[in-house]
Amino acid sequence: MKVELKNVTKIFPSRNKKVGGEVVAVNDFTFEIPDGKLIGLLGPSGCGKSTTLYMICGLQKCTSGQIFFGDNDVTELSPENRGVGLVFQNYALYPHMTVKQNILFPLQNLKGEDKLTKAEMIERAYTVAKLVQIDDLMERKPSELSGGQQQRVAIARALVKMPRVLLLDEPLSNLDARLRLQTREEIRRIQRETGITTVFVTHDQEEAMSISDMIVVMKLGVIQQIGKPQDVYDNPANLFVAKFLGTPPINVFSGRVQDEKLYIGDAEVLPAKGISDREVYVGVRPEGFALNENGALCCKLNNVEVMGRDVSIVSTNEASLNPVIRSIIYSDTRLDLSGHTEVRYDLKPIKTFIFDKETEERLYVEEN
Ligand code: ADP
Ligand code: MG
Repeated sequence: MKVELKNVTKIFPSRNKKVGGEVVAVNDFTFEIPDGKLIGLLGPSGCGKSTTLYMICGLQKCTSGQIFFGDNDVTELSPENRGVGLVFQNYALYPHMTVKQNILFPLQNLKGEDKLTKAEMIERAYTVAKLVQIDDLMERKPSELSGGQQQRVAIARALVKMPRVLLLDEPLSNLDARLRLQTREEIRRIQRETGITTVFVTHDQEEAMSISDMIVVMKLGVIQQIGKPQDVYDNPANLFVAKFLGTPPINVFSGRVQDEKLYIGDAEVLPAKGISDREVYVGVRPEGFALNENGALCCKLNNVEVMGRDVSIVSTNEASLNPVIRSIIYSDTRLDLSGHTEVRYDLKPIKTFIFDKETEERLYVEEN
């Protein structure tokens, strides 16, 4: 089922009545989620991810705009009539019911032609339980399960009604690191197997990047960029997106463009054809530094961290906005910088992004 948002806006009255004013939680969202894809809504806390999700499922009304499932306008439909499955961060299982009863619960209130016989319900419950691999835990109570198992039950409960759209709001936040990794791969597998159009909300860029066909990067209720994770990483539209994606994070320098050349401090680091003279920010991905003893950018060497496959060099530079610069060097030969106090780098053009200092929007260098 294709899902489409058209100029969707949500305005809340201020929570603090004395201060007044209103919060534009979601500002004019227009995007399409193709049938059978998983999209990640990504952004820091408070940027409007949950509000967007709740409007898609119908728990929140849009202040303006429209939502379509396929060709149907569902903007005014109640959640029960939208055919969505919802999973929250805190599982929200019924503690006094067994796993089986929890999964069966949504099927018991089906009316009219959707009504199922007892045997059909049990069959469905076991089918989804197998899918999320909890079919041997059906008689347990939630308190007898680990966090990861509880979250699987919540996913099974959302899937049992065979929703047209699956909505997940930070479903991995309460799990420890190892389980988080495992469960996210699990969600990806289940999504692929069922082919259900899925919206996955998270503030964790690595999580969103690894699981999504497409990500929507948001800030303060405004969409910053939409695209395939790798495309957004390789081509951030502005400084916020560049900084939000990537571990270790992008290195940001303050710099300037003069006579179509890019400078960091006094060092002329790259050509900047087509960009007029101005102050800029220069973002360099950790893998964007190439060691070269005659390189233009000179940094003070702090230390070298060997991480097996690659080497991370930690250095400083007066123009750097990050406290330290972290570069990742893939080296076949052993790197020996002992006795050095400085390192020099060339910057790789495809890993270096220039942003206007005032608007923080990306400036594009013309190719020759
Ligand atoms: P996220 O899920 O990305 O952390 P939310 O969608 O929960 O963000 O919230 C977006 C903004 O809307 C925040 O500023 C939040 O304080 C505000 N907000 C959310 N729900 C309400 C509400 N019921 N009443 C007033 N303001 C709200
Ligand atoms: Mg939220």
